[in-house]
Amino acid sequence: MKMERTSWKKRRTLVQREGQVGVQASACSGGTLKRELQRAGSETGAPGAARLRLRITAAAESIVRGGHPWVFAESMREQNREGQAGELAVIYDRQDKFLAVGLFDPDSPIRVRVLHAGKPQTIDAAWWAARLDTALRRRDGLFDERTTGYRLINGESDGWPGLVLDRYDTTLVLKIYTAAWLGRLEEITLRIQERLKPERVVLRLSRNILSDAKKMSGLEDGRVLIGDRLEACPTFLESGLRFEADVLRGQKTGFFLDQRENRQLVESLARGRTVLNAFSFSGGFSVYAARGGAKVVTDLDISAHALAAAERNFKLNQTEPAVARALHELVRADAFEWLAGNSRRKFDLVVLDPPSLAKREAERAGAIRAYGKLAESGLKHLLPGGILVACSCSAHVTTAEFFNAVRQSVTKSGRKFIELRTTRHAPDHPATFAEAEYLKVIYFEG
Ligand code: SAH
Repeated sequence: MKMERTSWKKRRTLVQREGQVGVQASACSGGTLKRELQRAGSETGAPGAARLRLRITAAAESIVRGGHPWVFAESMREQNREGQAGELAVIYDRQDKFLAVGLFDPDSPIRVRVLHAGKPQTIDAAWWAARLDTALRRRDGLFDERTTGYRLINGESDGWPGLVLDRYDTTLVLKIYTAAWLGRLEEITLRIQERLKPERVVLRLSRNILSDAKKMSGLEDGRVLIGDRLEACPTFLESGLRFEADVLRGQKTGFFLDQRENRQLVESLARGRTVLNAFSFSGGFSVYAARGGAKVVTDLDISAHALAAAERNFKLNQTEPAVARALHELVRADAFEWLAGNSRRKFDLVVLDPPSLAKREAERAGAIRAYGKLAESGLKHLLPGGILVACSCSAHVTTAEFFNAVRQSVTKSGRKFIELRTTRHAPDHPATFAEAEYLKVIYFEG
């Protein structure tokens, strides 16, 4: 599709065609799935309808011009017709010039997710292929064969708003966070298959689009789009360690790939230490700490499912002599309560990696206080010379707010600590705008 420079008022006859892009042949297993994907595909814009054209407020115009990928519902000023989820919407500025093109979603507070802003562009099969290439090229040289699990596409920050693609060895997990992609699933899946030739592609759906996906196309969370049904969780390598990923049901896409570099740091700090991995999930930090020479590692999580995975991940790495030597302890408890109520147990290294404590902007102030309190409890469990690793994955809490909360707790503790370092996003999880910067970690020793 060509984005003309001409005013949209003068161009009323253009036919919207993007729903047809790339839908040729399907190699997806099973005719039913193909039909479901095609049913979803046919929802993308009514054939023959005039292209969806929008105008937005002056403030939103400058935000989009500045490279921000979201246009909120309240920024909409004009719309030439009703739009359907996943249609390409073209935004024109006050001078009637092309401003941006993005994916429309009538039911989301983020009404348009910008695909491209600036000069008019042709959004066709070649454009999508080039966009995929750009994301893949960004990962070139980041990992060697000791790491076969990493993020290939990180949503907006890779130019694929609301879409994530993670690799777990030969299994790829495609996770979508907006109904806008539902109509394009076949096209994307084919493109991924062509370009990456995975053994399997699993579809994951964020909670907010589960019912839309079911209604539109009968698609369910955890559906295997390409390849055989999974008999067991696939395993993959991270820094030479083997982990399983619960790709069908696990949080995110089955593993927290974003903490890889922090796990490597923890490994380098763990020699001879006793380690508490609070909010351990499947024990990522613990297995690294064990390889780094930790004497004892304690996984603490509220979920029995997570702890069972942590145990399996430990077992998967028994060929590493240091992992085989380390004592592994599992504690199932609410970590906030456990930390508050077990003041006698002390460790040489404490990792605190809670789930997001602010899911909404309204929860921000409370979350900052909670991070401060959690760090305070963590510090109380540290032996002299101990290390605290405090993490936040709340996008609503800024980096400065989080680091300051932890720094204040350190000051309040009355003990002498030195700040070892702070870390941000992993290289395969680029963050190109403020809302995408969720992960921040701070290290203290003392
Ligand atoms: N550090 C992990 C990721 C942590 S995700 C990693 O590197 O993979 C957050 C974890 O916190 C989840 O496993 C969840 O089960 C756990 N959790 C949530 N609330 C909790 C609570 N109150 N007490 C203990 N664990 C909790």
